[in-house]
Amino acid sequence: MAVAEFDLIKRFFASLPQHGRGVGLGIGDDCALLEVPDGQQLAVSIDTLVEGTHFLPGIPAEQLAYRALGACVSDLAAMGAEPAWLTLALTLPESDPDWLEGFSRGLGEGMARYGLSLVGGDTTRGHRALSLQVHGWVPKGKALTRRGAQPGDSIWVSGTLGDAMAGLDQLQTQADQDPYLLGRFYRPSARIELGLALREIASAALDISDGLLADLSHLLQHQDLGAELQLAQIPLSDALLDRYPEQQALNWALGGGEDFELCFCVPANRRQQWLEKLPGLSVSCREIGAICRKPGLIGVDRQGNRRPMAASGYQHF
Ligand code: ADP
Ligand code: MG
Repeated sequence: MAVAEFDLIKRFFASLPQHGRGVGLGIGDDCALLEVPDGQQLAVSIDTLVEGTHFLPGIPAEQLAYRALGACVSDLAAMGAEPAWLTLALTLPESDPDWLEGFSRGLGEGMARYGLSLVGGDTTRGHRALSLQVHGWVPKGKALTRRGAQPGDSIWVSGTLGDAMAGLDQLQTQADQDPYLLGRFYRPSARIELGLALREIASAALDISDGLLADLSHLLQHQDLGAELQLAQIPLSDALLDRYPEQQALNWALGGGEDFELCFCVPANRRQQWLEKLPGLSVSCREIGAICRKPGLIGVDRQGNRRPMAASGYQHF
């Protein structure tokens, strides 16, 4: 790839339209030069995806890029940050123009959607893998973190849960595939608008990447707290319930991951403010339970039966 490397960067990456502000110097020098506006903090997150481990070898390059970007930007959403810049480290077995064309298209589409500029990266030859690093801005002291939940806070989630796992299941097993569920797997929506709206509201927040129970338990561990979840309130899409038994749907919603919805806590004294804001948002949100003092996760079913739940989620090691 050595010979074609600079052409490749120029053709597929440097030429993408730029959407994030504050770029003094972008692709083409040894470093990018970037301006963080006064009074803002830089929020930074990186995700690495390795072929065969994090994505299937056959995934179309366009889908791979769009999905990887959505997953990465979701971390900015979870912090209440506004997306600005992107860097990309790409390792490829060969420089295949068709693959690169698709990848560049998917990346460009995601950059336009989330308002990002690609400001640099690295391109190497090897087993296919990519690292995306996103950078966003958040006013000093206003970021949403995993700390801060208190007993009595209500617990909320955005969108619907379990769809991405169902989409993956359809991809792997079923001939008759549901376009909505496949779309939820291939094209996650980072909830940026919601993250920004929650800056003045939520006591704690994170995005659901490993599964609701696993991610929620990260949020609880910081303060040695527990949570009670109303299982009938877990939001499940019609598409999911049409295709799968309710128990399977709920299992995916609680343990599946990859939905990239937000889970957040609202203190009682900001509840009214939140309820007033909610109808103006383009994503639906559902109250699913409450933080309690006693550590552990309790599920409460329709009949009011309570049972402890294990926080199993995806772990790499
Ligand atoms: P250096 O050798 O100084 O690290 P490179 O030759 O690797 O620089 O890259 C040249 C320029 O192209 C740099 O500005 C780098 O950030 C950018 N770049 C390289 N690969 C990519 C990529 N995949 N996406 C975006 N920018 C890239
Ligand atoms: Mg250099």
